[in-house]
Amino acid sequence: MNSKQPNSIAIAGAGLLGRLLAWRLLRAGARVTLYEAGALSPSPAAAFTAAGMISPLSEAVVSEYAVYEMGLFALRQWPQWLSELHHPSLTPLFSQRGSLVVAHPQDVSELQQFAQELHFVLQKPVGYRWVTREEIRQLEPDLHEGFHNGLLLEDEGHIDNRQLLDVLLNEIRTSGGECIEHCPVTVSAHTITTKTDQRTYDLVIDCRGMGAKNPANQLRGVRGETLHVETREITLQRPVRLMHPRYQLYIVPKPDHRFVIGATQIESEDRSPVTLQSSLELSSALYTLSPAFAEARILELGVNLRPAFMDNMPKVDSQPGLMCANGLFRHGFLLAPAVVSYIVACIQDTSEKPFQSILTAR
Ligand SMILES: Cc1cc2nc3c(=O)[nH]c(=O)nc-3n(C[C@H](O)[C@H](O)[C@H](O)COP(=O)(O)OP(=O)(O)OC[C@H]3O[C@@H](n4cnc5c(N)ncnc54)[C@H](O)[C@@H]3O)c2cc1C
Repeated sequence: MNSKQPNSIAIAGAGLLGRLLAWRLLRAGARVTLYEAGALSPSPAAAFTAAGMISPLSEAVVSEYAVYEMGLFALRQWPQWLSELHHPSLTPLFSQRGSLVVAHPQDVSELQQFAQELHFVLQKPVGYRWVTREEIRQLEPDLHEGFHNGLLLEDEGHIDNRQLLDVLLNEIRTSGGECIEHCPVTVSAHTITTKTDQRTYDLVIDCRGMGAKNPANQLRGVRGETLHVETREITLQRPVRLMHPRYQLYIVPKPDHRFVIGATQIESEDRSPVTLQSSLELSSALYTLSPAFAEARILELGVNLRPAFMDNMPKVDSQPGLMCANGLFRHGFLLAPAVVSYIVACIQDTSEKPFQSILTAR
């Protein structure tokens, strides 16, 4: 940081944005204090509940074109950033073997519609191809044999989100960042207010996700539910999406024979536990992907809220002494590299500020 740039920076919220930003700013030479309302590990953040897919093509059919653009940036940026992290684990934080979209033979029109929508949104989409039953067997030998067609989205990736949160925390601490947990705060220009005192900084950055909701900012929570299972009976190389007329299920492989399964996007801020109906839908759809899941052990049923603005697009608001970043919705891992790069560029006052027109549009 040069003498004109903020040196002492407080970040409110140690979820995905807060941790990533703290780490990047420490690397740029700032002094950073990170405040978290809950525990630092395990974290109450949406980023902890998330599946960690980085899937620009899959998301393109349900999002603005800008989400796709920022997603392509994420696929380039994550491997570079992750290579700068020190993590002793043998399992990689990021894997990029594409994702596979399948449908049961009676639902094959869902696949065709998905491909048509890709062409409609992206005109000439690249990085996907149809795969036959034999190719599906080669790609994912443990899947049910009955899938006759699929789509391979070749460049998509996924991240081990829970390990990433821990690795980032460790990196922030070893880089000299101060991390304060169980400390809910409010933010204003240059000021962090805790239950017991007020502290001033050159700059405060609000990354509280749903914790930043207030009547003025029109932030809303979109409920998501996940099922975590463990089984040694089946191995998947990549995330698999199952297209179905009533719901879309995704399953993401995680280390230690674990899998995260999700489907639901519910317009509700209810954080109560998963309903019986949701758990039945998730587990029966999972069983149709492969009967080998029958013996899987259920480890966890997770619920969290995705922070979203009314247009489902991310936003960064800036005023002297305060920046607020929010609205990453269902795309946190897809959009965080763009949002963090933009904020760091603003703080360093570089001539080029990536994605400025998208992130400050409203
Ligand atoms: C079920 C589910 C699945 C998902 N899957 C994916 C996926 O596959 N791919 C993808 O890209 N995205 C996914 N997401 C979305 C992603 O998790 C979010 O977009 C992302 O976590 C948002 O990041 P954030 O840092 O803004 O918020 P969060 O990660 O929620 O972090 C906010 C942090 O602020 C803290 N906080 C709140 N209030 C205060 C306060 N007053 N003081 C201090 N701290 C406070 C919170 O405790 C939390 O730790 C998923 C989300 C859910 C719920």
